[in-house]
Amino acid sequence: ITEFKAKKVLVLGLAKSGVAAAELLHKLGAFVTVNDSKPFEESPDAQNLLSKGITVICGRHPEDLLDEGFEYVIKNPGIPYHNPIVRDAVSRGIPVWTEIELAYLISEAPFIGITGSNGKTTTTTLLFHMLNQGGQNPLIAGNIGTVACKVAEDAREDHVIVTELSSFQLMGIDKFQPKIAILTNLYEAHLDYHGSFEQYGDAKYGVTKNQTNEDVFIYNADQPEVVKYAGLSKAKLIPFSTKGHREEGISGDAAYIYWKGEPYLERKSIALPGEHNLENILCAVATAILLDCPKETIQHVLTSFTGVKHRTQFLREWKKRKFYNDSKATNTLATRSALAAFDQPVILLAGGLERGHSFEELRDYMNHVKAVVAFGETSDRLIEFAASCGVEIIEKVENIQQAVQVATDLSEPKDVILLSPACASWDQYANFELRGDDFIEAVFQIK
Ligand code: ADP
Repeated sequence: ITEFKAKKVLVLGLAKSGVAAAELLHKLGAFVTVNDSKPFEESPDAQNLLSKGITVICGRHPEDLLDEGFEYVIKNPGIPYHNPIVRDAVSRGIPVWTEIELAYLISEAPFIGITGSNGKTTTTTLLFHMLNQGGQNPLIAGNIGTVACKVAEDAREDHVIVTELSSFQLMGIDKFQPKIAILTNLYEAHLDYHGSFEQYGDAKYGVTKNQTNEDVFIYNADQPEVVKYAGLSKAKLIPFSTKGHREEGISGDAAYIYWKGEPYLERKSIALPGEHNLENILCAVATAILLDCPKETIQHVLTSFTGVKHRTQFLREWKKRKFYNDSKATNTLATRSALAAFDQPVILLAGGLERGHSFEELRDYMNHVKAVVAFGETSDRLIEFAASCGVEIIEKVENIQQAVQVATDLSEPKDVILLSPACASWDQYANFELRGDDFIEAVFQIK
């Protein structure tokens, strides 16, 4: 593409996506300046960009930066619109994009855009497995894969780029038009960034706003907030519902998944637990069907896929007890969906960073929790809460290893032992992945 040839472009933010965008724009013949508030020495890629002839301004955001006459600004999705330079750019009428827009402009391959408050990674991963095993040449780009514009550079027409999109990324798109767009659900989130639920929803709507009737929009028909946006979309609509059989779109009840009203496959053959995962499954299955993925492949993936790491991930069965790792559940909402995923008695391992948040949202989901093993800064409050819910066995431990030990000792056949902390990990770990890794290790050490 020639759009950027000899154009002055400012790239804001020197994270992975900013570096990739700067390099790509430089290759496309643009005059690129990158700017990051972090000092030069702390940006490992700064020297490399400089040596390629890219202008690098580190350690500050000069107030008069935009007087240089930039024609485009590509910003890191994490930089909010109230950032002074971004605000200045918007008021000067300079297009402010995110890297995904660049990826779209240079790509020969079509995009599948997946967004929603919850379930993005699970849907993206499931779909990738289906397409990959079905011989469709999928590439994963974005948050859980390689930076989108790097993937797009190498993509051919017969590839399909599956990308998970945050509301932050979607705010910075202009022409991005995925062949298939998915909106899993909308819950209040990131309101500090977006200002209001409506603005957050409007950002998510970005996934379909450029679609035409040659494209498809798969959306949650159970949520009126989402249905409202479907009404604005010009794409062909595929509604999904987890609330029972429907004639149109894709739907599910306790027995079946239905495609256009007809039973498509049995629920009991699906390995991923939980109604919340049914949403993700319906989105992935509908997309796979639309892309002509063989039914046997779709079925095979659903029987074998046991979850993305740290997200209600099944680990092992030991003496008829099942162990699940949901370390990603850093808030009560996520723990709620994990608890709702099981009918069996649950031994819940929870606790972590004290943010003063209430556990009340868990109350209605605690009936089948037979024991709580609490750890971390919130352990005392969790114990109090569990007692008030009538949980019979409550234990306090120091760490994950002890929690696994105690839970295993308490457990009986048919129990589910679930790490779903309802708290961030930062009191004891650098991130939830490390907490989950410790849990996995302890679980596989049980003899
Ligand atoms: P995201 O990428 O949108 O953060 P993930 O697929 O990583 O979503 O799932 C994160 C957590 O959110 C999971 O551990 C699960 O507890 C919860 N979750 C996943 N899918 C859904 C859904 N469709 N509805 C509600 N909660 C969900």
